[in-house]
Amino acid sequence: MIKDKYGRNAQSAAMREMLGLGAHLPAEGTEPREIQGYLVWVEPAQPRLHGRARGGMHHRIMAKCQCGEILSAGRTHQHKCRGE
Ligand SMILES: [Zn+2]
Repeated sequence: MIKDKYGRNAQSAAMREMLGLGAHLPAEGTEPREIQGYLVWVEPAQPRLHGRARGGMHHRIMAKCQCGEILSAGRTHQHKCRGE
């Protein structure tokens, strides 16, 4: 689990802070960065199909565990790591 500065599960706002990003994610995405044993990066923005609203529930901050599993970065607390 990736923790925020209070030791809780890091939600997207805390993830953005740890990645040094502001409120808006860069459209081109970011390079992976190691945070607390996970590689964390921002996926490039996807073109929206069929005029669907921008934003929505699409998770763009991703995390890859040392075991190789790729998760949404806000969901690492749900990860049952094979390496643990
Ligand atoms: Zn794992």
